[in-house]
Amino acid sequence: MSEKVLLQNRRPDRPATLEEYRASGGYQALAKVLGEMQPHELTQAVLDSGLKGRGGAGFPTGRKWSFLRADAPHPRYIIPNTDEMEPGTFKDRILVGCDPHQIIEGTILAGYANQAQRAIIFIRPSYEPEAELFEREFSRARDEGLLGENILGSGFDFDIALHRSAGRYICGEASAQVRAIQGERPRPDKEGHMTDSGLWGRPTIVNNVETLACLPHILRNGPDWFKGLAVSKGGAGTKLFGVSGMVAKPDCYELPIGTPLREIIFEHAGGMKGGAFKACLPGGASTKLLAPKDLDVAMDFEALAAIGHRLGTGAIIVFDEGACLVSACLNLVTFFARESCGWCTPCREGLPYMRHLLLKIELGEADEGCIDRLGELAKAMDHSYCGFAPGAAAPVIGLLENFRDELLEHVAQGCCPFKGN
Ligand code: SF4
Repeated sequence: MSEKVLLQNRRPDRPATLEEYRASGGYQALAKVLGEMQPHELTQAVLDSGLKGRGGAGFPTGRKWSFLRADAPHPRYIIPNTDEMEPGTFKDRILVGCDPHQIIEGTILAGYANQAQRAIIFIRPSYEPEAELFEREFSRARDEGLLGENILGSGFDFDIALHRSAGRYICGEASAQVRAIQGERPRPDKEGHMTDSGLWGRPTIVNNVETLACLPHILRNGPDWFKGLAVSKGGAGTKLFGVSGMVAKPDCYELPIGTPLREIIFEHAGGMKGGAFKACLPGGASTKLLAPKDLDVAMDFEALAAIGHRLGTGAIIVFDEGACLVSACLNLVTFFARESCGWCTPCREGLPYMRHLLLKIELGEADEGCIDRLGELAKAMDHSYCGFAPGAAAPVIGLLENFRDELLEHVAQGCCPFKGN
């Protein structure tokens, strides 16, 4: 079994307490950093570690921080992104619920590196138990001098607040999240860099909570140790893989970056529950359906990109031979069409039309022309304003590339060949 880092304090029944987190080395990195390191040294260590963002995009964390100018105005903000709403994605909830102080410490470290004054954790309404847990543990951390004014007597002031979101999928996108916190309509905004002008026009860094949870470990054990956790060339660290669908043991597994997909599904997640493996979404609902021929891919950013896929959030959704992939894509596109922010036409109008075509195919009312139109429409999603629409089209593109026979079978039979399975 590989080394557990982020989930080392996971218990079956309750979150780790502050004392338990400390006993496992928690807050040692904070003491060391505040006592010995300058902010730019912390950024350099994160750059050296090769840490890439765990929220989906995989952008190098240290590089994101280095966009912040040394003379950028204050106050500056950190936004730990906990907003996960994509079907099949649940790893942030596990992480928050098992060891909240790991995220609190990571957030303070990010605050120190970027000389920020405040963090605002964005959390969705269905995560209310996690929101209450956070608020309790913020108080504990303040009582212990780990959060608030003059942290550990260092002169560094930093505090964390919570923002309970209204619960829309697009709020997971960083710029939409900033607008939501400001009380505005949450739509993506691609103008400028958030490190120049983010929350209330101030320099802002948005990092996923899994990314932030890696920081205490990198600072305590060193960038080389973190790099060495990966089992693929160029990878760094471990990754939380939320495995769901037709596997014997669906769960959140922490494994080295680069672990083969086949090993995750057939060893860690216990193999298939029903029939033989047919397909999976390797990195969440906005990644392409992957076929059995690609099961040996290493689960890291580069290896998946090399075969036209994305690691995304690492949510692996598994389908067996009895599953109708047209129906699965119909479900996903229905979700995405509902959650579109409606700002741009390809997404607002295109996703409902994709849904319409998929429904016709599923009901056996389509001809082959419908399949071609579906393909044209899915590709047109690249012309939308943000990454939401291409992400929504990704499973359908995988369906068309790898499972065209299944679409043709629906047309030829005039019904779903999997009905009754
Ligand atoms: S692609 Fe969709 S979510 Fe993104 S801005 Fe356009 S309408 Fe909004």
